[in-house]
Amino acid sequence: MVYRILEKTPLCPSCLGRLFASRLRGYSNRERGLALMRSLVMELEHRVEEGDGEARLMLERIAPSLPQEFYQSLDRLGIKVEERAPCWLCGGRLEDWLGLHRRAAELVRSLRAESFVVGVVLSKALSQREDELLRTNMVTTGESIRQEVKREIGKRVMAETGVPVDFERPGVTIMVTLPQGIVYARPNPILVKGRYLKTGRNISQTRWTTRRGERRFELSVQDMLEPLREALDGAELVLHASGREDTDARMLGDGRPMVVEVKEPRRRRTSLPVVETLLNTRAKWGWFTLEGPVTRDYVRELKTSDQHRRKAYRALVTSDKPLDPGMLEEAEKSLSGVEIRQRTPQRVSHRRADVVRVKRLYETRLVQLAPRLLQAYFLAEGGLYIKELISGDDGRTQPSLSSVLGARLRCVELDVLWVESS
Ligand SMILES: [Zn+2]
Repeated sequence: MVYRILEKTPLCPSCLGRLFASRLRGYSNRERGLALMRSLVMELEHRVEEGDGEARLMLERIAPSLPQEFYQSLDRLGIKVEERAPCWLCGGRLEDWLGLHRRAAELVRSLRAESFVVGVVLSKALSQREDELLRTNMVTTGESIRQEVKREIGKRVMAETGVPVDFERPGVTIMVTLPQGIVYARPNPILVKGRYLKTGRNISQTRWTTRRGERRFELSVQDMLEPLREALDGAELVLHASGREDTDARMLGDGRPMVVEVKEPRRRRTSLPVVETLLNTRAKWGWFTLEGPVTRDYVRELKTSDQHRRKAYRALVTSDKPLDPGMLEEAEKSLSGVEIRQRTPQRVSHRRADVVRVKRLYETRLVQLAPRLLQAYFLAEGGLYIKELISGDDGRTQPSLSSVLGARLRCVELDVLWVESS
C-alpha cells in the first residue's frame, strides 16, 4: 500500500503519515510517515540483499521521495538519488506552514485575546489535490491538511501564549491561508451589557440619517457611547436596546437595558469602570452603567423580552379647555387596570404595519398643575403608545385620556421613568 502510493506520488513523511492519521494514535503525522517509510525501506533493503532485482527497482523508484535519513542505506546499496522530488501535495512546505504558529501567537498576544480558534482556508487547487490523493488511493484513514494545520497551530499557540482554545465562542479567530501562508486575525465582537439614561430631548437612540445622508438629530445615544469603541479600538459600535423611547422623550429612572456591541475590537480587554467614568464625564445628555460582557444569545433575549417589560411614564399634558378637578379621579379609575385598543398611530403608520394592538394599562395618576395643564403618570405594558393614549389619535386609540376627560389633550413632554428588568 505505502509502496503503491509513493511509486506514483512522491510525498513527504508528514503527507504520507496523514493518509493514515487514524492509525498509530499518539504520533504526529510526520512520525507516522517516517515509521511507514522505515519499515518499507527495511523490507526492500532485505530483499535487495537476497538478490531480488525487482526490489532494487522499487527502491530506486521511491528513492526521490525519501528524506536524507535514508541516504546511508541507499548509498550502501549503490542507489544514487539524482534529484529529490518535492512532495506532490505540500511541496515540502508543511513544516513552514506549521511554523506559522509564531505569527499566530503574536496576533493572539497583541490583541490580548481571552481565547482563540484557528481557521484554515485551503486554495481550491490544494484541496482538489488532497481529494484526488485520498480518492485514487481509496484512503479512509486519513485526515485533511486543514485539520492538521488547525490542530498543530492551535496546540503550539496555546503552549506559547497560555491562551486557551475556545471552539464555541472564541475571542479571536486566527485565519491561515494555504498555500500562501498568510495569517491574519478576525477579532470577534465584544458585547457589553448595561443601561442608559437619556437626560435630554431630541436625541435619537441610534444615528439616524435621511436618505440624503443628513442627520435627523445632532446627537444619539449611540454617539455618546463612542468612548467605549475607542477604548477597545473597534471598527464599529452597535447599540442593541430593549425597546426605544421617542426621540423627544427622556429616558430617566435607572435607565433602559442595552447591550453595546463593538465590532472588530483590536483591544479585547479594558477596565469597564474606567470606561464608564469616561462615558459619564463626556456625555452631556446621557448616563451609562456598564455591567459586563454577555453572549449573542443575551442580545436576542433582550430584544424579544421588550414587549413583556412594564414601563412607567410621566407626561406633561395640555388641554384645549379648563378641566374640572372633580373629573380627574374618575378618569384615573377608568384608566387603571384596563385594556387599551390601539390602532397603529398615524405618526408611525408609514413605517409600521397598520394593525390594532391590545395593551394593558395598569395604572393612571393625574395631577392638575393649572386649569389646562396636567401631569400624568402611567404604568403600562411595553409597546403602548403613550402620546396616543393621551390624544386618542382621532379615535384610533380607545379609550384615551382625551375621551374620558372629554377634552382635546396633547402630550407636550414625555419621560420614561422606569423600564422593568427581566
Ligand atoms: Zn507534504
